[in-house]
Amino acid sequence: MSDAATPGEFELIRRYFMQDVEHACSSDHVSPSQARAGIVLGQGDDCALLSPSPGRRLAVSVDTSLADVHFPRDASAEAIGHRALAVNLSDLAAMGARPRWFVLALTLPDVDEQWLEGFARGLYGLAREHDIALVGGDITRGQELSITITVHGEVDDDSAITRHGARPGDLLAVTGTLGSAHGGLRAWFNGQRDERHPLVAAYLRPAPRIKEAMSIQQRVSAGLDISDGLLADLGHLCARSGVGACLDATALPLDQALVASLGEHEALEAALNGGDDYELLLALDPEQEDAVRQALETLGGALHVIGRVTSEPGISGVASTGRGWQHFHAADHGTGASP
Ligand code: ADP
Ligand code: MG
Repeated sequence: MSDAATPGEFELIRRYFMQDVEHACSSDHVSPSQARAGIVLGQGDDCALLSPSPGRRLAVSVDTSLADVHFPRDASAEAIGHRALAVNLSDLAAMGARPRWFVLALTLPDVDEQWLEGFARGLYGLAREHDIALVGGDITRGQELSITITVHGEVDDDSAITRHGARPGDLLAVTGTLGSAHGGLRAWFNGQRDERHPLVAAYLRPAPRIKEAMSIQQRVSAGLDISDGLLADLGHLCARSGVGACLDATALPLDQALVASLGEHEALEAALNGGDDYELLLALDPEQEDAVRQALETLGGALHVIGRVTSEPGISGVASTGRGWQHFHAADHGTGASP
């Protein structure tokens, strides 16, 4: 960032990534709303000083998003900002955690202020929706656009949703349609550039299930967010819980737009292996089904039961050859991965 005409690192931070710091230049670096958010000292010093709620546990997670690996570089800057935070928030949702603070490490190939403004708009828009504050970060110049976000959330003692609590007999359920994001990515590759197209929007602007997870965390035995594809993530849940699963392929919730776009067979394959959906996959005692469904529907969401947890290991009920997403896997071919 040495070009005299372009703003330097500090000016970029001040312009785009200190939007909630009302008194950044005074000695009082914390606004009243920040104080409420537990920020003792915000941006502008070497570290942020944060004050977690007494008696609660911190949930911490980090994800990197790379241009043309995790998102198409020609997507709008606003969508890229939204998505980079959304995939991190989804990890908090997967634990039932309440979002509190995040830090952002950005590597930029060049300084494009119009791009930065759009990126910040997408980022802050989602941050405000979920009440999470940007408290620090870093900006560097590098060859490829890279966005690393670390999120911090809070959970009550012993109420985090983990992957290890699923029991044989539990229902398996998801909070929304599957495969739509994969359909959106395929549509993007086929030239669809309308970001409001329902499938493209599912891919570029996932909605992390934060409120949903917080409202049901006491009622589910296990859960995680579906980032790598249903089969891959169900495999993680089963491995951690020491159980197996039987799926009902006819019960998988598919968006009509996905079936129309890919046909039934490929839509099902996308639902099983597509990835990037960021819905929650939950295991719950059948006695909890009605209460969980009601809690989700109150929030405008849904519960789709798609199978059961079994004591026999392995996943039965669906025929699929895919293995979901893994970096470094032989099938790794660029955009379409989840972090
Ligand atoms: P240092 O050199 O001590 O690491 P920096 O000069 O990188 O500090 O950053 C100055 C301040 O601005 C720090 O408080 C830092 O957390 C914040 N900051 C830097 N980059 C970002 C960013 N991309 N988003 C939010 N805050 C940032
Ligand atoms: Mg720094």
